[in-house]
Amino acid sequence: AKARYWTRRGTWIYDNALLLLLKCLWSNVVPEFIMASGNTVLMRLVASAYSIAQKAGMIVRRVIAEGDLGIVEKTCATDLQTKADRLAQMSICSSLARKFPKLTIIGEEDLPSEEVDQELIEDSQWEEILKQPCPSQYSSIKEEDLVVWVDPLDGTKEYTEGLLDNVTVLIGIAYEGKAIAGVINQPYYNYEAGPDAVLGRTIWGVLGLGAFGFQLKEVPAGKHIITTTRSHSNKLVTDCVTAMNPDAVLRVGGAGNKIIQLIEGKASAYVFASPGCKKWDTCAPEVILHAVGGKLTDIHGNVLQYHKDVKHMNSAGVLATLRNYDYYASRVPESIKNALVP
Ligand code: AMP
Ligand code: MG
Ligand code: MG
Repeated sequence: AKARYWTRRGTWIYDNALLLLLKCLWSNVVPEFIMASGNTVLMRLVASAYSIAQKAGMIVRRVIAEGDLGIVEKTCATDLQTKADRLAQMSICSSLARKFPKLTIIGEEDLPSEEVDQELIEDSQWEEILKQPCPSQYSSIKEEDLVVWVDPLDGTKEYTEGLLDNVTVLIGIAYEGKAIAGVINQPYYNYEAGPDAVLGRTIWGVLGLGAFGFQLKEVPAGKHIITTTRSHSNKLVTDCVTAMNPDAVLRVGGAGNKIIQLIEGKASAYVFASPGCKKWDTCAPEVILHAVGGKLTDIHGNVLQYHKDVKHMNSAGVLATLRNYDYYASRVPESIKNALVP
């Protein structure tokens, strides 16, 4: 009787284990213990984007080293494209598309669709990112549900003027219209620190997981330091900055660079009350800022949308802070709000 009891019990355990396994395989629900590996589409994409942004950063440095920038005016003298913008975009978009053929990828530059040199393709992925868990709300995202916004070189005007630390490479990832992951490479980070310094760095982040690759720092309490455009200013931009009565104003190039100033305690608000900045400028930087508790909106306080059919232009400007968002939002004059239609 004892032997029969254990045989029946053994069969029961075996049957139920088999049932559970089949349930896992058949349902779309990924069990928690598998999710923890970080081997989801999103985390694989972020890990690839990290290596691809590093490669783009190398291209940006190489073009300067070779000396021929190949500058082209796009819409006007302050809206430029260089050989580095073109090569970096080809490298980023082709490398992403080869690995993730079902992604929607939107790059800043209008380029002829031609076969990309194998030398520009980056195939590797940053292994450290794959060791991180994927936030559970993103674990079942499919490749075709993601939109990638690419600014191959943010701060082109400053790049052509030799203000190299203003330059960043931006890869932002959106899901259901929301910016959820991003990578920023700063190719000339440390370039004034002497010949022994390691040049360049990569910052990355995922909402619900955090942002990495930098030391979070805040501006001293009570100080209002505004960072704004250096090469795309106008009356609306300066009027809005003045209305905030800042202790100091930092005029520097690049949307990516200005978000780096916010997270490293150099500025307390990024204020740009003008059209001009596009979705590829804000997607990746917004994620890094949001992942550490900051906030980026248009000048009215509206959240930005990133689904694939959205208008590229951030027509109602940008307002971003690490802390004290309400202080700055409450000081945007009504006349400026009325002049900027979303
Ligand atoms: P900035 O702060 O001037 O470096 O601008 C941040 C980003 O927005 C850069 O990618 C600029 O190229 C872009 N941007 C801002 N204003 C304009 C404009 N008036 N025309 C073209 N691009 C602009
Ligand atoms: Mg840009
Ligand atoms: Mg650009």
